[in-house]
Amino acid sequence: MKNDDFIITAISQKGNLVGYFTSIKNCATQVQTAHKMNNISTAVFARALTATTLLSGNLKNPDDRLAMTWDCTGPVKKLCIETDGAGNIRGFIDNSQLEFIERSVQDGEFSTEPYIGFGELTVSRETGNSAPYQSIVVIETGEIAQDLSLFLEQSLQIQSAVNIGLSVDKDNKILCAGGLMLMGLPGITEQEIKEMYEEFQKITNLTDVLCKDEQAVLEMFNSLKMDIIGTRNVQFNCKCSADKVKNVLKSLKPENLQEFLSENNCYETSCRYCGAQYKITKEELDE
Ligand SMILES: [Zn+2]
Repeated sequence: MKNDDFIITAISQKGNLVGYFTSIKNCATQVQTAHKMNNISTAVFARALTATTLLSGNLKNPDDRLAMTWDCTGPVKKLCIETDGAGNIRGFIDNSQLEFIERSVQDGEFSTEPYIGFGELTVSRETGNSAPYQSIVVIETGEIAQDLSLFLEQSLQIQSAVNIGLSVDKDNKILCAGGLMLMGLPGITEQEIKEMYEEFQKITNLTDVLCKDEQAVLEMFNSLKMDIIGTRNVQFNCKCSADKVKNVLKSLKPENLQEFLSENNCYETSCRYCGAQYKITKEELDE
């Protein structure tokens, strides 16, 4: 389990408390490389990647989809992550070279608030069983873990505890990335919610747990009488293809298509999600 990225689902024996634990160091590293992110953009992006993975924990079918988009006033501008029920995940950040803001580090803790600021958080969900769903909430704190929790409360009336851990060294290498989330489901009592927060808060250093030893998470599940009911692998995977790019180009008006024409007489573009470069000749486009 240590080497692969994963998300674990646990549920209480009474069925009114669900938990997700994820580790996505490899995905975060691959997206970081694909988008040539500096360390600050990595620090913000990897947290959003973790939040989206946590929220995708209850997607049941491989084709179910979830996307989280931050449209914000801070220098991040826009950050979008898409994932599915098979654990494929991809995303982009508008600003891959964020400049360090002094107040983002206080007492050794990194805050995403100065980089995100205010704006809107959109969560879109498509599952085979129900109509597509989209919910837009105001970004209240700019802290990714906290805003995920507020989204759950405001949009779905779910009480939750969310923690995201990330460690990036001075050479911009991701040492660990992941998160932990507990959600109280309908039927949970106030006493059980209290116990949920108490047990959750015992894990004071999630980064240590992710980098060294996951035992503390298993112990927390145990204390809350929760059983692990599933583990899914998570992988960076973009489903873009030359055919999809061709279809997009074909749908453009001639004057807009012209913008993609290079000196080599090819239409050149790259995928926003994975950075893959596409060159389509005029002949190929007419096929
Ligand atoms: Zn792509």
